[in-house]
Amino acid sequence: MAAASDTFPALLLIADGLGDRAVPELGGQTPLEAARTPNLDHLAARGESGLLDPIAPGIRGGSDTGHLALLGYDPYRFYPGRGPFEAMGIGMEVRRGDLAFRCNFSTVDAELIVRDRRAGRISERTGELAAALDGLQIEDVEFRFKESIAHRAALVMRGPDLGIHVSDVDPHADGARIWEAHATAEGDAASAKTARLLNAFVRRTFDILDEHPVNVARRAAGLPPANIVLPRGIGASPDLAPFDAAHGVKSACIVEVGLVKGLGRYIGMNVIDVPGATAGLDTDTEAIGNAVVAALKEHNFILCNVKGPDVAGHDRNARGKVAIIEKIDAMVGQILRAHGDSLILMVTGDHSTPVTYGDHTGEPCPVLIWGPPVRCDRVDRFGETAASTGGVSRIRGLDVMNLLTSYMGVQEKYGA
Ligand SMILES: [Zn+2]
Repeated sequence: MAAASDTFPALLLIADGLGDRAVPELGGQTPLEAARTPNLDHLAARGESGLLDPIAPGIRGGSDTGHLALLGYDPYRFYPGRGPFEAMGIGMEVRRGDLAFRCNFSTVDAELIVRDRRAGRISERTGELAAALDGLQIEDVEFRFKESIAHRAALVMRGPDLGIHVSDVDPHADGARIWEAHATAEGDAASAKTARLLNAFVRRTFDILDEHPVNVARRAAGLPPANIVLPRGIGASPDLAPFDAAHGVKSACIVEVGLVKGLGRYIGMNVIDVPGATAGLDTDTEAIGNAVVAALKEHNFILCNVKGPDVAGHDRNARGKVAIIEKIDAMVGQILRAHGDSLILMVTGDHSTPVTYGDHTGEPCPVLIWGPPVRCDRVDRFGETAASTGGVSRIRGLDVMNLLTSYMGVQEKYGA
């Protein structure tokens, strides 16, 4: 019997891109409705269901903005633009005070006129080019640089007195000379410093990359050299309160994608890597489940994200989405067998990725909450249609941590 002082650990399980639409190939059901999910149905029958707008009704969110909201940070206040999350997402360390940019490897001629903004969509040996730039120091500012997918990369500027009000370097068109960055307001010395050093960095990337062996080989093969880096999308590292102190929990983050790992690391969660977690449909959900079970012994809040449903949604792969949801269901059963008598479990998505659309849409995700203190409604299975009649009704991502910390018994009272 639970006494008033009892607390429960909680698992927030995010099936990435879970929400979907009626799929003709599945007889008009959604992939979640078509999937065989005995464990999730069992929880829905004994807990409460509803619909969750990760950001707000109708908003097509990303995984970054969606997870910010689910973890209690209003994305409209705290989302710093894509630069910092792009950098976190490829495993770069982003610290408070840093500036971050998305970048392209591009091709310029000797007059710095852009000949190909994507350097022929270079896909090989960009790691060698990035290594030649990473760690450059100009005055008192350090430049950290890392390659991403294809011609993309990210840049982190770290040093004192940097401002973010800086114009673009990337002319966003072939045939134009690269632009000189400048501060966008008079008298903003910090942004003027950022602009001056950013221009110096860009010039330095040309000096280093133009005759780099990778580009010598590319020219010999008739390919455009990746001989400059063009940063854009400047963002300052966001001012996010450390997660555990904000919510009175001891948290772990067991997720597959770099973007969410980077966010977890940034807010101070204990980020646990799982060998076999591929972020694809072939991922080892049993290994992820084992990691969750183990982490629950040392932590009282776990964020777990399985990426597969979003991947299948982007690929318009209805059967694949059904199959990965069934694997997640088996993983839930595995976790319940280990911790089912004493756990608050919330299952939802960070946005909808319908297989009929192939990208994120603004529909809410189904959500279920289950655990010893959670009331029961009349919903008896987990799915979009059934959840729309449940006791949770319709909530936003920002409500999630309030609900969980209340059920967990760790939330401070608001008022007397
Ligand atoms: Zn997606």
